[in-house]
Amino acid sequence: MNLEILPITNPKPKIEDEAQLTFGKSFTDRMFVMQYNTGQGWHSARIQPYAPFTLDPAAMVLHYSQEIFEGLKAFRRPDGKVALFRPGDNVARFNSSARRMCMPEVDEKFFLDALLELIRLESDWVPKSEGTSLYIRPTMIATEPMLGVRPADQYLCYIILCPVGAYYKGGIAPVKIWISDHYVRATEGGTGEAKTGGNYAASLYAAKEAAENGYDQVLWLDAKEKKYVEEVGSMNMVFLYDGKIVTSPLRGTVLDGITRRSVLTLCKEMGYEIEERALSVDEVMEGVETGRLREAFGTGTAVVISPVGTFCYKGNCVSFGNEEPGELTMKLYKTLTDIQYGRQADPHSWVTML
Ligand SMILES: *Cc1c(COP(=O)(O)O)cnc(C)c1O
Repeated sequence: MNLEILPITNPKPKIEDEAQLTFGKSFTDRMFVMQYNTGQGWHSARIQPYAPFTLDPAAMVLHYSQEIFEGLKAFRRPDGKVALFRPGDNVARFNSSARRMCMPEVDEKFFLDALLELIRLESDWVPKSEGTSLYIRPTMIATEPMLGVRPADQYLCYIILCPVGAYYKGGIAPVKIWISDHYVRATEGGTGEAKTGGNYAASLYAAKEAAENGYDQVLWLDAKEKKYVEEVGSMNMVFLYDGKIVTSPLRGTVLDGITRRSVLTLCKEMGYEIEERALSVDEVMEGVETGRLREAFGTGTAVVISPVGTFCYKGNCVSFGNEEPGELTMKLYKTLTDIQYGRQADPHSWVTML
C-alpha cells in the first residue's frame, strides 16, 4: 500500500516553555489515517493535517465500543536524535487487541513504517527537556453506520501525537493505592488483556470513588475470588516479596505490558527469581507490615515505574516505612530511562532510532 503525504497549511505554534506541557491535551500538526472496508481491505493510507473526523451518528464505535488503542513514546536524546522504545511490540499488541475485538489486523511492517514516517515529519515536536517525550496514540474505531450488533464492515485507523511533560516533576513520588473490594476490572474470558476503550470506561466509577477518598489509583483484584491482586489503572503491578519478583501471570485479565516485560528481563539479569503468580491481598497487607514485601511498583509507558507508598484495603492502610521509593524501584527506573534517552547501552535492542 502506498502512503500519501499531504501538506500542512497552518502549522501550530509549539509550546515554548516545556514545563507547561500537560498529558494528552495538545496535538501536533499531522496525523496518520487509513481506512478499511470488508472486501477491499486497508486503503487510503495518508499522513495529513491533524483535523476532526466526520462520523455518522450510527457509527458502530459510538454504540458498541468496537475500539482499540496503543500508547508509546518517542524520546529526544542529548545528541538531538529521536528514539522509540520497543515500537514493534506495540504494533504486535495492537493486532492482538484487534483480533480479540473482531477488528481487522494491520500489516505490522507497513504500520510501523508509517508511524516512524509520521514522527520523522513531526520530529520538531519531540520536546527536549529532561523527562519529556512525544506520546504516540495509535487508535482503531468501527465506523460503519449500523445499529445491529455484529463486527463492523468499515474501520478507521489513525495515529495522533502529543508532546508530554515529565511525569515526575518533583522527583519520583510514591502513590497511595486503594484496593477495590467491590468493583472489578476484568474477568477470565473477558477483554482485560485487550487495550480497548470499554475496559477504561468500566474502571472510571471505582477510580472516581478512590480519588474522592484521597487515593491516587485503584488496584484491582481478581473477579472470581476478589483475593488476588491484578493490576492498577493503566499499569501492571510488580512486587519484591521474600526477595523474589512477584507479578500477576498473563491469563487474560491483565494487560501484557511492555514495561512489565522489560522490567522482568532486567530483574532476571540482576539475578532475581521471577514468580508469575497471583499474590493475595493478605500477602500484600501483611507483607508491608512484616517486611516480607519490600517494594511494590506499577509499570507502564506513561510513568515507566510508579512506586507505591501506601495500600488501603477495607479501611486498613499500610505504608512502606519512610515513604521513599525502594532501591530496586529506583534502579529499574534509572536503567529503563537511561536506555530510552541513550544514557546507557541497549543490549536487548529495545530502541529504534528514527
Ligand atoms: C497500557 C496498559 C498497561 C501498561 O502497558 P505498557 O505496555 O507497559 O505501557 C498496563 N495495564 C493496562 C490496563 C494498560 O492499559
